[in-house]
Amino acid sequence: MSPVYPSLSELGAALAEGPDALKRRAGLVAAMAAHEQDGVDCSACSGVCCTFVANSMQTTPLETYDLLVWLQAQQRIDADLVAHLKETVRRYRLDAPDPGDGRRSFVRRTYTCPFFKRDKLGCTISRQAKPYGCLGFNPFKAGQVEGGECRSQIDLLERREAEFAAREVVADQVLRRGLALDWEKKPMPVALLEFIDKLALAD
Ligand code: SF4
Ligand code: SF4
Repeated sequence: MSPVYPSLSELGAALAEGPDALKRRAGLVAAMAAHEQDGVDCSACSGVCCTFVANSMQTTPLETYDLLVWLQAQQRIDADLVAHLKETVRRYRLDAPDPGDGRRSFVRRTYTCPFFKRDKLGCTISRQAKPYGCLGFNPFKAGQVEGGECRSQIDLLERREAEFAAREVVADQVLRRGLALDWEKKPMPVALLEFIDKLALAD
């Protein structure tokens, strides 16, 4: 007999007591907006950090859930999206183990994000639903064209994590138990495909 998983709305009800996706991202979004107000933004860049050159974004169950809920509200979960995610996984071998010695991985596999539209300001995901790592990676000098002066704002990311850690651990447990997930982070396309499959969202 195939396993029975909760629906997206049942998962939402189980997670309702925790801070919502927007609140958990507010500090990172505000920092990004402050940079932009100072003229330090991504408007001149090719978006290299979202391509296979530099992107290896992995998502937790909760980050995957946030993204999925937003995609569903935008009516973007369909056969085309599933095909694009599968093609990304195949092309960049995202379902293969990371290169390593069997005990730890040395590097993460990189991939061009399926939500990048290969244009300036090319991310098609709202700031209210992006992975935290995407929000925390920003330019530090105006006029970047290939990401030379960009980096992760580790201090902000750690502060955000510390603020919400207790609730996020619980939320990740709810999702791991509900969807029988055996991972803490996976490459975003792999994680999304598993959620979409188990929640039967593209059927
Ligand atoms: S979600 Fe957006 S910002 Fe993050 S890697 Fe994909 S395109 Fe880039
Ligand atoms: S963070 Fe840097 S590399 Fe990424 S789009 Fe912005 S300017 Fe380009």
